[in-house]
Amino acid sequence: MKFNTNYSNISDSYLFSTIAKKVAAYQAACPDKKVLRLGIGDVTLPLAPAVISALHSAVDEMAAKETFRGYGPEQGYGFLKDAVAGYYAERGADVKGDEIFISDGAKSDLGNILDLFDACNTVLVPDPVYPVYVDTNVMAGRKIAYMNATSQNNFLPMPDYSVDADIIYLCSPNNPTGAAYSKAQLKEWVDYAAAKGAVILYDAAYECFITDDSLARSIFQIEGARSCAIEFCSFSKMAGFTGTRCGWTVVPEELACGGLSANKMWLRRQTTKFNGVPYIVQRGAAAVFTPEGRAQIAENIGYYRQNAKLIADGLKELGIWFTGGENSPYVWLKCPGGMGSWQFFDYLLENAQVVGTPGAGFGVNGEGFFRLTAFGSREVTAEAVERIKRLLSK
Ligand code: PLP
Repeated sequence: MKFNTNYSNISDSYLFSTIAKKVAAYQAACPDKKVLRLGIGDVTLPLAPAVISALHSAVDEMAAKETFRGYGPEQGYGFLKDAVAGYYAERGADVKGDEIFISDGAKSDLGNILDLFDACNTVLVPDPVYPVYVDTNVMAGRKIAYMNATSQNNFLPMPDYSVDADIIYLCSPNNPTGAAYSKAQLKEWVDYAAAKGAVILYDAAYECFITDDSLARSIFQIEGARSCAIEFCSFSKMAGFTGTRCGWTVVPEELACGGLSANKMWLRRQTTKFNGVPYIVQRGAAAVFTPEGRAQIAENIGYYRQNAKLIADGLKELGIWFTGGENSPYVWLKCPGGMGSWQFFDYLLENAQVVGTPGAGFGVNGEGFFRLTAFGSREVTAEAVERIKRLLSK
């Protein structure tokens, strides 16, 4: 046998383990100090009551012979696909039930979708970047080209026709930068992909944070996207499903190449390698789209949005440059005083006992930047902002 030696080309990610080690060392040295964490991208509010009630009912269904469910459709139950299709229709995106594939979250499908594409394709990813896009392609031995996201382009790189690419990753609102593309900007990307015969893999995991109508909630709001894009979305941040696991992928019927249909290939791939998301979880996810579910998740998203605003307002007061904060749960700030990402991490930990994520961990262009998340509690967020203000206004 031979292993896939591409695995030896994946760079080790020490980002979160280094953060954990540094925080643990600091706490051991200063046990009386209360450390506030605005570093991780996980939600903290529990599932909405409508979701919990749907989960309970589905569990009860599994207990009765008449309502018990075994294997379900690999691509998801109709009741959930129809609810997702309705979600798209509301924002003027024409997405049919058969184009929606229910998944156990965006991360799995972002990796699995690569089964559809030849290893010779060139991949274009932004830098800084959510590391999954890079690592999954390194595993497959694909060539990766980077596009620079910097403060000059507000961390929203635009197409460069001198660069040839086959698979383009866009994430909006972005992790880690919080920056979000306008519909007009995304149209430029769709035109570029069409001109190059490329596909856009569009990660919309944070779309629910968008309030500004000029920004895109889905790439399928953009004319022409149906023949050049696949969209990944998730209940994780929208409804607190990070531990419950459910998401979806949209593969439009028009996306085709060399006589092959991406939609048919993905259906074949899923029915071959995947046996579907648990019925119970899909019932919980469908409850997100009921009137009660919607009102309850809107309240939770509003809570995180308010946290993001607290952070953003604090930075504005300090005159610190940042992206995100509005239309995103992430705030991406320029480290003050020309500090490097890790230097600022240490400075903030030691002098304010606040933990964030050094931008350098997301790519070369992240150096000198820092990510704070709005997923913590109101109390922790407010206190962290006060501490940062006190420290940096000195
Ligand atoms: N895409 C982005 C940009 C993310 O930041 C995350 C999680 O943090 C995911 C996808 C993964 O989402 P899921 O929980 O649906 O797998």
